[in-house]
Amino acid sequence: MRNRLTMMWRLEGVPLLSYLLMTVILLPLSVSPSPAAAEDYDVVIVKGRVVDPESNLDAVRNIGIGGSQIRAITTEPLRGQTTIDASGLIVSPGFIDLHEHAHEQENYRFQIMDGVTTSLELELGTADVDGWYAEREGRTIINYGVSAGHVPVRMQLMQDPVLTGDAARRSASEAEIVEMKRQIERGLKRGAVAVGLIIQLTPAASRWEILEVFRVAAQFKALCYTHIRYQGEQEPESSVAALEEVIAAGALSGASLHVVHLTSNGLRATPRLLQMIGEAQARGLDVTTELYPYTAASNPITSAMFDEGWQKRLGIDYQDLQWVATGSGLRQRASHATGKPEAGSFFI
Ligand SMILES: [Zn+2]
Repeated sequence: MRNRLTMMWRLEGVPLLSYLLMTVILLPLSVSPSPAAAEDYDVVIVKGRVVDPESNLDAVRNIGIGGSQIRAITTEPLRGQTTIDASGLIVSPGFIDLHEHAHEQENYRFQIMDGVTTSLELELGTADVDGWYAEREGRTIINYGVSAGHVPVRMQLMQDPVLTGDAARRSASEAEIVEMKRQIERGLKRGAVAVGLIIQLTPAASRWEILEVFRVAAQFKALCYTHIRYQGEQEPESSVAALEEVIAAGALSGASLHVVHLTSNGLRATPRLLQMIGEAQARGLDVTTELYPYTAASNPITSAMFDEGWQKRLGIDYQDLQWVATGSGLRQRASHATGKPEAGSFFI
């Protein structure tokens, strides 16, 4: 990850204290349990409720920071060149947001207000790792990273910029699979922090193609950050089958697997998927998962996910969809047939 540590005092002038949550990166190795009383620090954060999951500390403490290191966490008073009163606020390690798609400066500002100090675009990723980093270099207030994305690489290779044609629906030739692997490998060499896959949006990608992508990831010890192929309970295109596919790909290739938003792919089958992941872990496989902290999901209406038969496959219907632009529910097919990117997204 091409990251720069962003300590919160670099944000002086920003009214951080007005935010509910305040974060600072805790560096446990540098903590001294009994600070010298006379020592001055560059920055002192006082009276904050310090929450450190690593040590289970959850108490009001004063923190002394010198240089880029935390040198004291104590109930004793501390003196520093800059003092920040964190009364009524939480001081904790910065959160790492593994699953964020809105990588614009405005969103980074909102994220840091929520305590996020590292924001990663891993699921979709990019076909142009150098370009992605160059856009953020030197002007981004939190840490950032991106994956080499199977979907954008496939879109670029098949010259399908909106993922409604070949990139979604045409199977790749042997030569195209070789080229996709080459581009993903190049991305990893240029600093991509994982390999991203959204298999549900590229249904024409064969199981062999996906396995080949996992093999590239394994060569670089990179995580496969994966949205699985199917959603819901309907066999043979069930979320159980989709999870089996990527667990098998992880086992065969040796790549670590992270299954994204398990609940929105599993829907009612979620307990079964959780059981399967637990079983894979018990067999020694490196498999993890995540879930949304809310009950909605979103996808473009033009995506292959809404191809004919989606109601039966997903176990949902129009009343379960919401048009993003207006927030209203849907009663019919709307502009699905246009196939244009401006058709926008649905919430489920
Ligand atoms: Zn997804």
